[in-house]
Amino acid sequence: MRPAGKGALESLYFDYPRFAARRVPELDGATTRHPVMIAGAGPIGMTAALVLARYGIKSVLIDRKDTFNDGSRAICIARPSMHILERIGAVAPFIEKALGWRFGRSYYRGEQIFRLEMPQPPGEKYLPMYNLQQQYIEKFLHDAVAASDLIDMRWQSELSAIERHVDGVSARISSPEGNYYLDALYLLAADGARSPIRSMLGLRLKGDNYEGRYVIADIRMDHDFPTERRAFFEPSGNPGGTVLIHKQPDDIWRVDYQLREGESEEEALKEENIRARVSAILADIGHTKPWELEWWSVYSANTLCLDDYRHDRVFFIGDAAHIVPIFGVRGLNNGLADAENIGWKLALVLHGEADDRLLDSYSPERRGATLDVFANATKSTRFMTPPTRGWRLAREAALSLSLKHDFPRGLANPRQMQPYTYSDSVLTPYAGRDAGFAGGPVCGSVAPNAKLIDAIHLLDQAGTGVTAILFCGAQPTAEQAALLEHLGQVDKRFVAIVIGSENSISGAKTIADQDGEIARIFAAEPGTIYLLRPDLHIAGRWKAAIPSEILKTAEICLGGETP
Ligand SMILES: Cc1cc2nc3c(=O)[nH]c(=O)nc-3n(C[C@H](O)[C@H](O)[C@H](O)COP(=O)(O)OP(=O)(O)OC[C@H]3O[C@@H](n4cnc5c(N)ncnc54)[C@H](O)[C@@H]3O)c2cc1C
Repeated sequence: MRPAGKGALESLYFDYPRFAARRVPELDGATTRHPVMIAGAGPIGMTAALVLARYGIKSVLIDRKDTFNDGSRAICIARPSMHILERIGAVAPFIEKALGWRFGRSYYRGEQIFRLEMPQPPGEKYLPMYNLQQQYIEKFLHDAVAASDLIDMRWQSELSAIERHVDGVSARISSPEGNYYLDALYLLAADGARSPIRSMLGLRLKGDNYEGRYVIADIRMDHDFPTERRAFFEPSGNPGGTVLIHKQPDDIWRVDYQLREGESEEEALKEENIRARVSAILADIGHTKPWELEWWSVYSANTLCLDDYRHDRVFFIGDAAHIVPIFGVRGLNNGLADAENIGWKLALVLHGEADDRLLDSYSPERRGATLDVFANATKSTRFMTPPTRGWRLAREAALSLSLKHDFPRGLANPRQMQPYTYSDSVLTPYAGRDAGFAGGPVCGSVAPNAKLIDAIHLLDQAGTGVTAILFCGAQPTAEQAALLEHLGQVDKRFVAIVIGSENSISGAKTIADQDGEIARIFAAEPGTIYLLRPDLHIAGRWKAAIPSEILKTAEICLGGETP
């Protein structure tokens, strides 16, 4: 909602573009079967199109709207998502515009009870978190989409029916230029929380709805406070409730406040009441200067997802597959990981480099990630919006004890998103080899980064297929060199990174680890080898190479049969 007198898209800081519908070849009788159709050009649909384009795969991206999503939605981009944006060639404007952060504070009745400090290992390229309004996220992604010859973007094009065939999907598209059928080998359903495609296939989200309600208000103010996440429990500006405050670019601040039990939503959402409540909250944090109201809405938490994210040739990604509570910034970040996961798998299958079987791993991996998010978010949500008297009492007790004791303080921290570890995935068949390591990143987790020289990092060297990182004393032994060569025969995109002191075999990227920092990060010894998937999750690691297992793992990452 916007203040009285303002148009639906009349923002204080963002100019919404209006995209015209185009006359497309299908309206003139063309019957092309496209490799991939993506329904929904929200952040997740656009990211999926860009992942496919990175691999040279064409897609048609349709959206029924003529502009970006409006209002205040996702605002926090986590580090792993910045890496995804980098891989799809879209990260530069994000770095320029977004506000990076790693600290937060939680207060109880005006007293600070918790200081959040997210770790920033020296080898990492990005900060743990960046704040940026979803409008900008969509604009920057759209700029990259518009610059790609491989993405056919069609605005004002609504998917109104689908037919599934053994060898493809056909969709009826309605646009102001006319109606037509669009055929594709695969359909990515990125059509959001109310996914019409879900309904067309007769599918339902399952899970829980939470009763607690939050008002989300975006305001513009000149307020001198660093970019940190602030959580206020029982502040005098919102007695009996919680308030979250985030800084965004363009002097826009997001204020989320909890409605009291029994409070009328209709009354709470009246403009005069929003202004009064926000003024009281701002007075509480010492801001007495003028401020302007941009937009507001009401929100309640859900943990809902589909039983299966794959239905033959239709894959659900983003909010169409799952709806997660916003506490802990998971909605957008989780969806971006979906887009990359299905994107690289589909691309390799469409190029004929991987077996179709690889696509079966999408749903278990990403649904597993959703269930993990639910487990974490449920804890945060129960604390942020206690569902019962018992939970309210527990929260009250934890908060009052936090004033004097350390042990309950972590509870007053809305947990932040962590990338999911695919340790149970079929693509991680030898996770048991973790037992041989005294530390380092486990199988299935996202590979950590290490700084090399200047602005160059270890993971910049990885490829678009399987990547091996081999640690050597000086240079690879004959057996190790043969293994790397063999991996190159399994995967034509294979990249070998050799951490050694001497120039190694041809075709491998040799990196000197003068101070032993890379070996320390990976808990590696001479002979240790890590195998990374295209999305830089660790497919396997071996203290000393076991060629049969390593080759098998690379084959499985390309859809080979599991042992
Ligand atoms: C009020 C609110 C606050 C939020 N706050 C946060 C937050 O703080 N942090 C966070 O991480 N997430 C937050 N989210 C969630 C975040 O906005 C979503 O996770 C994210 O937008 C999901 O992106 P998506 O691309 O999957 O779906 P969407 O952004 O919903 O995009 C779906 C697209 O599909 C299009 N579409 C739908 N049907 C059709 C059709 N039949 N044909 C063609 N096109 C169609 C729509 O027009 C839309 O553009 C919030 C969401 C809301 C609503």
